[in-house]
Amino acid sequence: MNLEIVTIGDELLLGFTIDTNAAQLARELAALGVRIVRRTTCGDDAESIRQAVSDALGRTGAVITTGGLGPTADDMTKPAIAAIFGKGMRLDTGILTALRERWRKRFGHDLPVSNEQQAMVPEGCTILPNRHGSAPGIWLEDAQGRWVIMLPGVPREMRGMLADTVVPTLRDRLPVGGPVIRSRTLRTANIAESALADRLGELARGVNGLSLAYLPGADGVDLRLTSWDRDARATTVALDEAAALVRSKVSRYVYGENDDDLAAIMLAECAAR
Ligand code: ATP
Ligand code: MG
Repeated sequence: MNLEIVTIGDELLLGFTIDTNAAQLARELAALGVRIVRRTTCGDDAESIRQAVSDALGRTGAVITTGGLGPTADDMTKPAIAAIFGKGMRLDTGILTALRERWRKRFGHDLPVSNEQQAMVPEGCTILPNRHGSAPGIWLEDAQGRWVIMLPGVPREMRGMLADTVVPTLRDRLPVGGPVIRSRTLRTANIAESALADRLGELARGVNGLSLAYLPGADGVDLRLTSWDRDARATTVALDEAAALVRSKVSRYVYGENDDDLAAIMLAECAAR
């Protein structure tokens, strides 16, 4: 399944907030076999949101947005996207009651009028409950099966809803035994990118159909192998075989894999000696 992400918020465009939501979504969805083919960020402006989501829908038919679901005037994601589907907005009394209860319990007073906005949802949508905050997520789908999921911008809420509803729902929609996207990283030190490529020779452009990326950083160059189109079992085998092949060429420079930390490994080595 191909999918596009649209993250919404002026603070993202201004660089005050780093777009961690898009990275989190991409990582979690890749493991399911969902391929993120494009990411777009737009400001808190109804026309920009409509344009970005409508373009993305035209390309893939599957879009996840984050941000702009809150109670303030700069939160206009829902009506902007409802307009793409030709839908109006309606008040959801279930959400309104839950919001009122939440406010009385947590803050001991009535729901502010501006928060009533959060109970407005596009007609014909599915409401995705949010156990982690007040703004529920929204799923809108049309007769051709094109869909948009709208998630809150607050990263903690976004992550919670991803785990609670989005991942299970998408998993149900994907074919059983379908392709997954997984990576394995060999971490190297004390050797330049170009020298690694020379030593890898034939393997430098990819290993058994897996892509190979060179990711230089402060500690050294990471070699990231990615399998894009095999089922889960075949992916594990392919990554194991490819990693062994790469190691056979450059093993003396490889200090670890994936999240291994150079300093921690050095310290352990020193202690052992
Ligand atoms: P709320 O109900 O809290 O208003 P919301 O869905 O309207 O949520 P925003 O108002 O857009 O979300 O953002 C809420 C907070 O989450 C802000 O502090 C914002 O900086 C942060 N945030 C928004 N989008 C992202 C993102 N893509 N990555 C990381 N943080 C984000
Ligand atoms: Mg906002």
